[in-house]
Formats: sequence, structure tokens, C-alpha cells
Amino acid sequence: MGAEELSVEELATVNATAGITLVSEAVCEQVVGRPEAFTAVENVFAAMARGDAYNFPVVREAIGHADALYGFKSGFDRAGMVLGVKSGGYWPGNVDKNLTNHQSTVILFDPDTGQLRSLVGGNYLTAVRTAAASAVSIAHLARKDARVLGMVGAGHQSTFQLRAAVEQRNFEKVVAWNPHPEYLSRLAAVCEELAIPFEAVEQEQLGAEADVIITITSAFEPLLMKQWIKPGTHIACMGTDTKGKQEVDPELLASASVFTDEVAQSISIGEAQHAVASGLLSESDITPVGEVINGTHPGRRDDQEITLFDGTGVGLQDLAVASAAVGLAQKKGLAQAVML
Ligand code: NAD
Repeated sequence: MGAEELSVEELATVNATAGITLVSEAVCEQVVGRPEAFTAVENVFAAMARGDAYNFPVVREAIGHADALYGFKSGFDRAGMVLGVKSGGYWPGNVDKNLTNHQSTVILFDPDTGQLRSLVGGNYLTAVRTAAASAVSIAHLARKDARVLGMVGAGHQSTFQLRAAVEQRNFEKVVAWNPHPEYLSRLAAVCEELAIPFEAVEQEQLGAEADVIITITSAFEPLLMKQWIKPGTHIACMGTDTKGKQEVDPELLASASVFTDEVAQSISIGEAQHAVASGLLSESDITPVGEVINGTHPGRRDDQEITLFDGTGVGLQDLAVASAAVGLAQKKGLAQAVML
């Protein structure tokens, strides 16, 4: 029987193994919350560190139309049996069309047969998986007594990072700085909702007060200098995901214990690219955070150490949350199944 002969209700109940599962953006938002994203990302970082999951080379091209950057992030997680690709990119003109500038879709395949399995909206999932990555780093690397959270950046992604971060420690205050101060009201509104005191501060004060800092900007130069950061701070650098981008002083990486999602990306397109290029840091100084999750690296040594997580954003994170979305949507009867 063809998909066109089925009612919408029947489509939703077609056995997913017999067709392609579609999970819309709206359903992703419904079924994948912060806890589900945290677990998916933590598990896949652990699998990567064990060698059970690996990312394929990233493709990213300026397509010469609409100023767009388009590409693919893909990989295979043998532990979770997830194979697929996130396709998408950045269309700067979308804002005028009332669309998100970042657009992506995740495509999952059956690792046993190569057959197309699922199409999943990737915009919301990108935001939650990126927030989950910094949250995982805080959970495993920040001091247990961290009380002040510093936010550098106040764009689209920042509120996701903030919401996921405040669930990891008993934060009593949020301090924030952004190159465009007018955006800071976004973070202030979330803090008001969560009943956490919020203060907009200058960069130096942020470094002096914060026990945990998240950077999530599109900067191409350091926004935080090493001498501003107090001992014992954990910093999650999340904005640098392309060659040339930079958010912090390379000397800060040289003085910190540096962790990452994937070392190859960290040294090429992540925050560590600059410290490595200037000889302040070597590849062997960088530890996959999955080793800390797996218990094969002790993580933070003491209360004085500065830990820095270079969150570059890997395809396997996208596949992990997309796979979770498919499973949860199917379980809740919200997945749509179609036949090719
Ligand atoms: P956005 O465009 O909504 O916000 C951009 C932020 O950067 C704002 O705080 C803005 O004030 C600031 N900014 C813009 N231009 C700047 C400049 N020249 N110098 C310093 N700051 C500048 O973007 P977003 O969706 O919030 O994403 C923020 C960053 O995070 C982007 O660089 C994006 O590529 C990156 N990102 C990384 C991952 C990952 O997995 N690591 C995932 C998603 C997004």
C-alpha cells in the first residue's frame, strides 16, 4: 500500500521500520528537552573517546549565492548505531524573510543496510545540542562550588547555553557582557524568569566575578584576556567553529587545562587553532572531554586550575540528538512515517 493511500493518522502509526520517519521542527521541540539532549551528547562524547564513534571530514563551502555557507557534518556512532549527516549552513539574508539564518536538516541511515531511515528538522536540535555540550563540560569540569555564571555573547544561541548551564551548578548570579549591549536584555529576561539575579558588566569584571564562563559569539578577536580570569574558573568557548574565529586570549589556553569535543576540530577550526598556530599549545595538550566522562582522565585536578572546554560542534552531536528525537517521537506517536 502506498503512503498516499493512508490517512494522516494511519501515516503516523505506520511501523517506522517499514518507511522513512519524518520529525518536524515542532515535534523536535516537543520531545527533546535539555535532559534528553544532555544525555545524548554526553553519551556520544564518551563513545568518541572510546573510539566507538567517529566524525567524517566536514564539508563547508561558500556557494556563491545569497552569501550562503553550505555544508555537511556526518559520522557514525557504532555504540548508538547512528549513521547520518547534518546538511545545512548559514544564510545571512534569512532574517529579512523571518527565518533563522542557520538552517539545517539531519538525515539518518540504517547502518546495516544504508537505507534512508529518517529526516529530522535540525534547527532547534542544533541549538539544544550546542547548549548540551557546554553543560556537559560544566557538569564534568567546573568546581562543585561554582556560584557565578558569566555569559559572553547574547545572540540566538546564548539563551540556550544559559538555560542548560544553570541546571549544572547552584548559580546565584549571572554576569554578562556582549559587544552589542542592546542584546543583553535577552539574557536578563531568562534570568528574571529563572529568578537568578542578573548584571550586565564590563569584560574585566566578568572575569573577576565568574566561576564559570560561556563564550558564544561570532568574534574574530579575543574578548577575554588571560589576566582577567581568576584561578579555578571553568570556561566553555562555544562560538569558534570556523577558521579565523576567536573568542579568548591564546595565553589563556596555554595556562589552562584544555578539553574539547574533538581534538582534530579543536586545532583546526576551534578556539585552540590560535594557541596551536602560535606554538603556545600542542595537540597532545588537548584532552577529549569524553575521556573525563569515561573516567580515563581525572578532569579537574584542584580548585585553582583553570579548565577550558573548546566546543567546536561535531556532526555526531547532531546525529545523537536527531536519533533521540526519532525514538521519542515514535514512542509518543508524533513521528510521521512515509514510504518512498
Ligand atoms: P547570533 O548571530 O545570533 O549572535 C552572534 C553573537 O556574537 C552576538 O552576541 C553578537 O553580539 C556577537 N557578535 C557578532 N559579531 C561579532 C564580532 N565581530 N565580534 C564579537 N562579537 C560579535 O549567533 P548565534 O546563533 O548566537 O551563534 C553564536 C556563535 O556560535 C556563532 O559564531 C556560531 O557560529 C557559533 N555556534 C557554534 C556552535 C558549536 O557547536 N560550537 C553551534 C552553533 C553556533
